[in-house]
Amino acid sequence: MSLTLHVDEQRWRANLAKVAGLANVPGRGGVVPVAKGNGYGFGLAHLAEEANSLRVDGLGVDTLAVGTYDELDAVADFDGDVVVLNPWRPTVGHEVARPQAERVIHTVGRLVDLKQVQGRVLLERMTSMKRHGFSAAELKQAADLARERGLQVEGVSIHLPLGGGYAEAEQLVLDAIAADAHHTIWVSHLSAAELSRLREHYADINFRPRIGTELWLGDRGALSVSATVLDVHPIKRGERFGYRGRKAPRSGWIVIASGGTAHGIGLTAPAAISTARGRAATLAKGGLEASGRLRSPYWLGDQQLLFAEPPHMQSSMLFLADRGQPVAVGDTLAARVRYTTTSFDRISFD
Ligand SMILES: *Cc1c(COP(=O)(O)O)cnc(C)c1O
Repeated sequence: MSLTLHVDEQRWRANLAKVAGLANVPGRGGVVPVAKGNGYGFGLAHLAEEANSLRVDGLGVDTLAVGTYDELDAVADFDGDVVVLNPWRPTVGHEVARPQAERVIHTVGRLVDLKQVQGRVLLERMTSMKRHGFSAAELKQAADLARERGLQVEGVSIHLPLGGGYAEAEQLVLDAIAADAHHTIWVSHLSAAELSRLREHYADINFRPRIGTELWLGDRGALSVSATVLDVHPIKRGERFGYRGRKAPRSGWIVIASGGTAHGIGLTAPAAISTARGRAATLAKGGLEASGRLRSPYWLGDQQLLFAEPPHMQSSMLFLADRGQPVAVGDTLAARVRYTTTSFDRISFD
């Protein structure tokens, strides 16, 4: 009766080991797994446990990354350091108390913040992302200020755009070297090839890749999602149904499936089927207005099912025009969802 994420455990773990193995430089540290948001569908606590396994497997996993300070509690079981990716501010981050404070690494990107923060810090260099961070000139001042203040600098942080490219990464590495900031550089969104090229060119720099998607969701074939058919009702053309008493466009079946807005169903265009243009059109409609004409993320075999009306909180109403009863209560439908925006009722390691 649930929206379930099925994980082919052996295959999924093989990808974790592969990605972590590629990122690891023995003795210098490896991948920094990113566990943030909905935990990429797995939940933060579960990812913390998995990161612990990678750690004991000798893959150089000594640090985990979370997105926000509020996520620290959920990864409390991770036995290493935890870096917070969102920037430290005088109003967020200062409240991290001992003993937690000793293992938390703050990310700092403004000189005003660097004057106040305590403890362990990463100095973030602004990239073409334009999200957070110091300019090249500020990074130099930041490195000096951190030394003056006796802060424990753990490295320089570089957050590149997706597919950001090697040239920008190299320029930012040069900035960090010029600023005499630190010999460890934490990088995001470099390919394995780009990372090894950087490691070859700058052998005295220790690169720490932060990876989420490619690690947890890198082998999509290891993952599948199922929903349960909760009910099935025949409906005649023109007959009313749903919260708004809409009329069925044709005769067919109303199928109620597990999974609704509370799970993230229908809140974003299903990633696997829409083009960018299609997604924009969906958003522009501001809802799933066209009754029976909007594609749902649910599939019956190779047939993509249509929403009968906008998904409800815990379930979705689908419309099928078939003459014969297409599914029965308790049957399973496949669902294609975005893992980073879906909350599953259950995770099943098969
Ligand atoms: C989210 C995030 C990552 C991980 O991104 P993925 O695309 O999931 O690998 C890495 N670095 C920073 C700064 C992030 O915010």
